[in-house]
Amino acid sequence: MVRKEFVVEEVVGMMNKVENIRNIAIVAHVDHGKTTMTDSLVARAGLISKELAGEQRMMDFDEQEQARGITIKSANISLAFHYNEQDYLINLIDTPGHVDFGGHVTRAMRAVDGIVLVVDSVEGIMPQTETVLRQALKEKAKPSVFINKIDRLINELQLDDKAMQARLIKIINGLNKIIEQYAPADKKEEWQIGVAKGNVAFGSAFHKWAVSVKSMTKFNIKFTDIYNYCKKGDHKTLVEKSPLDEVLLEMVIDHLPNPKYAQQYRIPVIWKGDIESPEGKAMLKCDPLGKTIGICFGVVNDPHAGEVAMVRMFSGTIKKSDMLFLASRLTSEKVQQAAIYMGPDRVMVDNVLAGNIVGLVGLRDVYVGETVSTDQIQPFEQIKHYSEPVVTKSIEAKDSKDLAKLIMALRQIGKEDPTLKVEINHETGEHLISGMGELHLEIIEYKITKERGIAIVTSPPIVVYREMISGKAGPIEGKSPNKHTKLKFIVEPIEKSVFDAMVDGKIPNGRPKGKSLVEVLVESGMERDEAKSVLDIYNRNIFVNDTRGIQYLNEITELMLQGFEEAMDSGPLAKEKVVGVKVRITDATIHEDPVHRGPAQIIPATKRPIYAAMIYAGVTLQEPKQKVTILCPQSYMGNVITLIQGRRGQLLGMEQEGEQSTIIVKLPVAEMFGFGNDLRSATQGRGIPYQEYAGYEPLPKDMLLKIVKQIRTRKGDKPDPPTPSDFLDA
Ligand code: GDP
Repeated sequence: MVRKEFVVEEVVGMMNKVENIRNIAIVAHVDHGKTTMTDSLVARAGLISKELAGEQRMMDFDEQEQARGITIKSANISLAFHYNEQDYLINLIDTPGHVDFGGHVTRAMRAVDGIVLVVDSVEGIMPQTETVLRQALKEKAKPSVFINKIDRLINELQLDDKAMQARLIKIINGLNKIIEQYAPADKKEEWQIGVAKGNVAFGSAFHKWAVSVKSMTKFNIKFTDIYNYCKKGDHKTLVEKSPLDEVLLEMVIDHLPNPKYAQQYRIPVIWKGDIESPEGKAMLKCDPLGKTIGICFGVVNDPHAGEVAMVRMFSGTIKKSDMLFLASRLTSEKVQQAAIYMGPDRVMVDNVLAGNIVGLVGLRDVYVGETVSTDQIQPFEQIKHYSEPVVTKSIEAKDSKDLAKLIMALRQIGKEDPTLKVEINHETGEHLISGMGELHLEIIEYKITKERGIAIVTSPPIVVYREMISGKAGPIEGKSPNKHTKLKFIVEPIEKSVFDAMVDGKIPNGRPKGKSLVEVLVESGMERDEAKSVLDIYNRNIFVNDTRGIQYLNEITELMLQGFEEAMDSGPLAKEKVVGVKVRITDATIHEDPVHRGPAQIIPATKRPIYAAMIYAGVTLQEPKQKVTILCPQSYMGNVITLIQGRRGQLLGMEQEGEQSTIIVKLPVAEMFGFGNDLRSATQGRGIPYQEYAGYEPLPKDMLLKIVKQIRTRKGDKPDPPTPSDFLDA
């Protein structure tokens, strides 16, 4: 921490030179060395002493992270560097490598213009390597690559220099294939990586040396030198010849774009407003004199300041006391403080210009993904999450007097982590937390008990199922309890192209106003007439009005849609969420007197026939799956396969390299609980699993009834599922 105060001043002075700014994220598969590598950059900026880098783990300040040894939430840090006679400012976002926290990675990509992808040369391209690279490319963040742990190739795997080179080439080719596939059309060529190009470096983060084509010439090192020094364990000489921080910095500064350059091609992708408008032009130019426009990509809870919104600024300037408009809340909030982050420390600054990353205090209830601006503008595109919550636990305060504290804690954690869903079960009053896996929820529990000191009781984890239909049914007529109002509905599965557009976030939730939604629906493959008749889009379900000129229909629409939404929140089979259903109202007879068509009449007259129709249409459950990549020594392969077969696993692929086997399978989340332990015992601790979200698939027919009964019993309903007559009047 020697030069810290000085460094802050440097940083503040440099925030104005946008050409010399780089906003970057370091991304990697878990354990590939991202944190170790980041420490070297931090050390270079004079924040921590060089000797400690690698051990101090500057970015892992969170107590929880220290305990588990993995990086959990994105930490932001601004670093100043002197390089080639010029001062550069690097705003660096550290991201977690564990897939349960993939949401953090996606959000970080919105804030940066480039990435350094760290790949462990021993393990090669792992599932999360591919996922994070894909996420970066989709947000148009340009890649550069650091291939790490070269020392292990030489000292542990005993590869000679030829075999070593072959391995590096294999990794580079593999990454280029992904870049070719996902890079923006006009960047596919430019963004390819290659040793000769200089956007790939390799070395050892732990021993703090690295080489790139530039450093090899500059410092006069040959491939055989690296091999020989490494073999002798003489890392010191390598560090002297070609230090990691120097090589990385050069790569970042020379190969990753500055905000001004990057915003020209990034803005049209992340913002769908009019590029020719004054605010569109200001963002394209990264103009500090334009309207203030930024996006919040994270909310950090600071013990002193409360909630701090982390914002990437695309145009304008932010000062203390500015009023900023929050797009989704339609209100303005006052900036009480503007600050930059240096590791765990927040340092107040007077003003922050376009192109930078800033922490803002005072924006009450700001959420991640929010557009903040001087006044109302078209908001940024929604940030897409590539995985969804698949596991739920109920959570209660051990002592009922802690209830208010628990609710507050859940609200705050939910805001910091949008991949966590917090809901109240209105029947039982208990809180439900849903996350992306068992580990994700364990960490949330840890935060509540250890960091906030609230004793809690939780249920075992439960899989989140979905209800869907396999065919079409109806029209089915439902009557209001007073028999005065009759409504007829057809249900059917949503067309695949429209459904996919919903998953992609192209079709937003809500009751449409204006014409823009019609175009999006038509583009996604819906007939124009039908698109015009859509009344509601709710959690990947659609409500369509197929009637013409029915008297009083307008007056009951609000309640009818409420009934539809309630039905979609809690399906007929097991009260799980419904997904992928299109409900069409085809006819109606409505009582003329408003007194006879209140909520108690209209909501059941909507819900019950929808339920009956869904049962006729063949309602089933879908279960979440995970793709699991297992690394283990070849001799344990048989055991692993047996383990997977016992858990309804589907083998997707197998690969062998020397003694190491890679087995890729798809497993139901329901079969994943305790999988880590079983795998350890089947492989004497040598098998390592990596998990990824792999979507929802229908539950096998022969299991349906059993699972439905289990869920219903758990929810306190009679075990047998209902029949249509339960929802229809005789
Ligand atoms: P992260 O999960 O990507 O942040 O990975 P870490 O930086 O925490 O590193 C994971 C493990 O790999 C730690 O035990 C590091 O000490 C080790 N490690 C990192 N870089 C190297 C390296 O260059 N060589 C060797 N042998 N080990 C390394």
